[in-house]
Amino acid sequence: MPAMIVKGSFLQLATPGVQQLTPYQPGKPVEELERELGITNPVKLASNENPLGPSPLALEAIAEVLPSINFYPDGAGFVLSNKLAQLHELEPANITLGNGSNDILELVTRAFLTPQHSAVFSEYSFAVYPIVVQAVGAKANVAKAYPENHQDMPLGHDPDAMLSAIDESTRIIFIANPNNPTGTWLTPAALERLFQGIPENVIIVLDLAYTEYMDEEIKPPVKKWLQQFPNLVMTRTFSKVYALAGLRIGYSISSAEIADILNRVRQPFNTNSLAQTAAVASLDDDDHVRKSVAMNSAGKSFLQQSFTEMQLDYLPTMGNFISVNVKQDGLALYQKLLRQGVIVRPVANYAMPEYLRITIGAQKQNERFIEALKQSLA
Ligand SMILES: *Cc1c(COP(=O)(O)O)cnc(C)c1O
Repeated sequence: MPAMIVKGSFLQLATPGVQQLTPYQPGKPVEELERELGITNPVKLASNENPLGPSPLALEAIAEVLPSINFYPDGAGFVLSNKLAQLHELEPANITLGNGSNDILELVTRAFLTPQHSAVFSEYSFAVYPIVVQAVGAKANVAKAYPENHQDMPLGHDPDAMLSAIDESTRIIFIANPNNPTGTWLTPAALERLFQGIPENVIIVLDLAYTEYMDEEIKPPVKKWLQQFPNLVMTRTFSKVYALAGLRIGYSISSAEIADILNRVRQPFNTNSLAQTAAVASLDDDDHVRKSVAMNSAGKSFLQQSFTEMQLDYLPTMGNFISVNVKQDGLALYQKLLRQGVIVRPVANYAMPEYLRITIGAQKQNERFIEALKQSLA
């Protein structure tokens, strides 16, 4: 007799890790707000997307390959991997392409974690880390972050706490620099000290999604660190400053040995042809990156100044977003802002119930947000 499954009980059949999963909550899409509240022309400052839009070079390049999408993409991403290798003065064997850098985060957990293992990450860190760890049934060792009244980096990663969270079962440590949703960061010297304290049998995943927005003097020395720390995997994305979030393309930089391991678990065609082509073209547009970074700096100053005038505390940030303490229920305020056509990100799911995370937009969008915020707080 085959076992009978009662409808609604399939969850019991899912793996223990999956049973306990809560899905990732993305920023609210503009179309959804339009549908739900009938609001026209909303502003979305919720997913750290680049308000400038993609590079014109990327758009042109995609148009050219569009008629060829009947063909499978180059699974190895030869042209993009070679270009990235050149850019970082490394070998193509050091590069692993991902369907967004989230794909890489997942590849690492699938390659290195079992239910007997654990991964370390900080409180208030990127929401994808607990999900990918839980999905493979591994344990999360969550390190305490710096307290809210910390002098330099409130709610930032505390390297000593992260080291203490490593135990015999630990195989991966995730470090987001700068971190999302806080925007906080560690200096290269602090990171290097942290890496030195991590056992070599623990894979260090350094998530560099916002690295292009960082001040020059604290950008990571990618090549040097790769030579110094064989257990280091640095992830990068085309979703943020390169403005290709919709295409899903990212990559990691690691030893050839680790790249080979990741390559064993990835889908053969994990990155699509349009994404590969757009990424290659985007790498030729330094001007687009410069403009994006400049727009972000100006927007950051404007928002910080506005918050100061409104007597709201905000966290220091090196990303294209800023988290502000609204001194009330963030979710309720988020709802009020929605009704004014402004979508930001509530971060209660990050255990920051009185904060909102705002993506730094174009000047007009930032102004509209501040206007709506003043109205909502009045
Ligand atoms: C946005 C973000 C990413 C990028 O994800 P993609 O899958 O490349 O779009 C990675 N890490 C962090 C911390 C992020 O905020």
